[in-house]
Amino acid sequence: MIAVLKQGATGEQIRFLTHWLEGMGLQVHAYPCNDVIILGLIGDTQHMDIQLLQSMEIVEKVQPVSEPFKQASRKFHPDDTVVTVGSAKFGGGHFSVIAGPCSVESESQIIQVAQSVKDAGAQILRGGAFKPRTSPYAFQGMGVDGLALLRVAREATGLPICTELMNIHQLELFQDMDMLQIGARNMQNFELLREVGRTHKPVLLKRGLSSTLQELLMSAEYIMQEGNTNIILCERGIRTFETATRNTLDLSAVPALQEMSHLPVVVDPSHGTGKANLVPAMALAATAAGADGLMIEVHNDPANALCDGAQSLTTKQFADLSKRIAKMREGMKQ
Ligand code: PEP
Ligand code: MN
Repeated sequence: MIAVLKQGATGEQIRFLTHWLEGMGLQVHAYPCNDVIILGLIGDTQHMDIQLLQSMEIVEKVQPVSEPFKQASRKFHPDDTVVTVGSAKFGGGHFSVIAGPCSVESESQIIQVAQSVKDAGAQILRGGAFKPRTSPYAFQGMGVDGLALLRVAREATGLPICTELMNIHQLELFQDMDMLQIGARNMQNFELLREVGRTHKPVLLKRGLSSTLQELLMSAEYIMQEGNTNIILCERGIRTFETATRNTLDLSAVPALQEMSHLPVVVDPSHGTGKANLVPAMALAATAAGADGLMIEVHNDPANALCDGAQSLTTKQFADLSKRIAKMREGMKQ
């Protein structure tokens, strides 16, 4: 439920009302929006006397929030949330690109890719050190050594790092990482979501392979419930009957999520298609659809990549695509 307060409500009146609501066992979140304050109420509001709340001197209107996600809902927070990672910003008109290899493989590989994507205009370097692989026999990532190489690449380029956290026991190792990725397979690992919610690090939350948008937002809600609102939602394709592409990239998720939620939405056309030749078209389409950013896999030698080579752009292809994205963004401003 939300209570929109009247313009001119004083701090003391708001504190009094908040105290009264908290006394009923509700959590109260106050958000300023266009000269007024909106109070988001979480908890058992079913038995609440809405008429009584409505009759309070500083309350303009009371509106139930029927969606099961509350803090992630746009009703709770009408303005776009802007998530900042180093110099990169997502949401509220800001657009940034996260690029890098699927996995960190060696020092020369990560440094080479990091430098190239930076030169092409990417704002964040991605790279998995711990990889969630379908087969236990496939390359599982370099682990802590991979994290160390990401630090070296950050030092060399100044780019902040986004890397996947697979379980709560790894959190200690990720203390100095700039952005935590929660992968598609872990989207409903609720314990992990709670744990990243207790950090205040930016989180890239990827949509599960067969998750609805509502389920994605419920997962964001777990993180927000622990106090972390620095969340970027990521559409990365879902499983359908189609086999020509690795996944089916659901671009309608971009405007749909932006309508449902205030959180920024980025698109990952690499996992969304599984094919490098399809990535540029879908990256441009995602940009045109109003995405707040992109995540793109880039490798210095895709043919010999240890993971996801088929969907990785070469550094040159990425540089070319970056120019086309910048042009499209420029055109969209007019
Ligand atoms: C990845 O980003 O490399 C990855 C494993 O993504 P997803 O969780 O979307 O499959
Ligand atoms: Mn990958």
